[in-house]
Amino acid sequence: MAKHQSKTFRKKDLSYSQQVYLEVHDNCGLCGTPLDFQVVSHGALPQIKEMATCPNCQITTRQKDYPIH
Ligand SMILES: [Zn+2]
Repeated sequence: MAKHQSKTFRKKDLSYSQQVYLEVHDNCGLCGTPLDFQVVSHGALPQIKEMATCPNCQITTRQKDYPIH
């Protein structure tokens, strides 16, 4: 019964996202288009968010939060 919750992802998806992760440094893992990097400020919070989006696929491939000291 515990295996039942693996329904949300399949083994095929997992290996695919691992492949994407390797390629996601500067280019879109899906189409190879150079990623569009964006840095978003949280306003009052001492934190910024880095996002990498593909202008072709319209997907966000990376999100990372940086604390500002
Ligand atoms: Zn893409």
